[in-house]
Amino acid sequence: MSLYLILVKYMDNGNSYVGHYKECLKYIDNFSNISVFLAYNVNVDAIKYFKDGKEVQKLIDLFDEGEIIKTIKLYPRKINSPVDFIARLVYSMKTGKPAEVPVSEDKLLNIWFDELKYDEERMGGQVGIISNLLSILNLKRVVAYTPILSKKQAEMFVNKENLLYPSVIKGNLVLKKPIESYRKEDPLKINRIFEYIKGIEFKLGDEKIITPQANRFIVASRPDALRFEIKGELKKKLPEIGEVVDCAILSGYQGIKEKYSDGKTDEYYFKKAEEDIKLLKQKNMDIKIHLEFASIQSKNLRKKIAERIIPNVNCLGMDDTEIANIIHILGYDNLSNSIIKNSMIEDVIEASKILLDEYPNLELVQTHTMYYIVCMCRKDNPLNDKELKKTLELATVLASTKAKLGDISKIEDLKEGLCIPYNTHAKLLNSILVNLKNSDRYKDYKIAMVPSRLVKNPKSTVGLGDTISAGAFITYVSLVNYPSRKGGVK
Ligand code: AMP
Repeated sequence: MSLYLILVKYMDNGNSYVGHYKECLKYIDNFSNISVFLAYNVNVDAIKYFKDGKEVQKLIDLFDEGEIIKTIKLYPRKINSPVDFIARLVYSMKTGKPAEVPVSEDKLLNIWFDELKYDEERMGGQVGIISNLLSILNLKRVVAYTPILSKKQAEMFVNKENLLYPSVIKGNLVLKKPIESYRKEDPLKINRIFEYIKGIEFKLGDEKIITPQANRFIVASRPDALRFEIKGELKKKLPEIGEVVDCAILSGYQGIKEKYSDGKTDEYYFKKAEEDIKLLKQKNMDIKIHLEFASIQSKNLRKKIAERIIPNVNCLGMDDTEIANIIHILGYDNLSNSIIKNSMIEDVIEASKILLDEYPNLELVQTHTMYYIVCMCRKDNPLNDKELKKTLELATVLASTKAKLGDISKIEDLKEGLCIPYNTHAKLLNSILVNLKNSDRYKDYKIAMVPSRLVKNPKSTVGLGDTISAGAFITYVSLVNYPSRKGGVK
């Protein structure tokens, strides 16, 4: 069934939200013009869903409560023991904020984690999640690269003709399905994810904790064998890959370790990452490159990304915590703290302006928060305000669909997301935005905002941010590169 027919069907059901998104959905048809390259992170997500406080309480009861409380205060940025894990999990559940914390490669600790019972295993990592989504949204070609590709990992990719893995065979670049490209000997990276719903209750010492919203805590594995790099012959083919795509989405830099067993450091891998971007651009100066952030614990890594990667990309996508962290590196401590505390749209827009002023290479900054998604660019951007808004509208529907269903497996699934209304702050957010857009301070910029369509009891929250950013970025590129097919935005 065509998108248009789905729409008509839903309009017949009297759903007014759908009418509002009529043109927006047509944009997906435009995706079939777009080819994208993605690198670098794919992994398996082992997910545990906490549906009530009992299991959390059981975990807490395994340890001395005083020790957990002390560890929460220490705020470990790496998990070196089960107590570090409980402390960061409880902190995430208390604040309702998502977090991703690396776990040390200690054998006993990993056995401890393996022994916890998980509910399911699914595709993880930004490249994995986004590749599958874009393949389903019928992009012309999705070229997904990850340094390790085991059989189990390859099987988690959508098996479609438009999703390909790059290899070099007899000196030639060959794009084949992941399932035809895996290497038996490659290791597997597994992240453990702990998802919790809103309203879960448990006790720690005298404190009663109730989760303020659904979210997740990620224990990220960082195997020494996984090196963040496009090696040898394939690296030489990057200009050729750059030539056959319209755009690239880069992610996973949070997985770089500061030191490896062979003495190599993060510095080595950041240099390689910079080279990769230059090579991608070598034969295609018009390629649009998007950097997608994830939670990054290490301040050093954040600084390196700000200094080495952001100056080489066109677009940024991140959540409120990450934009706060980046402007913190740039010296805006007060604004950063304010965003962390309140996520106010006024502050996020000011932070976006700071990034556009600081990095002349950036053309678009997109930030997603629980209640709104906002993007900002300079006045000379080829898209008008309404087109920019459309990029976010589609992104919000993708997020609500994924939150509701857990996964998007066909375009028709979007009708589920379309039925979720904007959150209750929508009116207020729109009026704040009008004032900001009219203010003298932002007269040299274009700003667009769409309130989120919050699903009350999301099936899963993993990958929602990646889904938002990928949807918004691909719509942006398709509108900039194929303006004659705008689908009639007025
Ligand atoms: P991230 O923190 O990068 O994973 O981004 C998560 C984003 O997904 C949030 O900023 C919201 O815009 C969106 N989101 C989170 N929870 C829900 C939900 N329950 N329903 C719909 N969208 C959500």
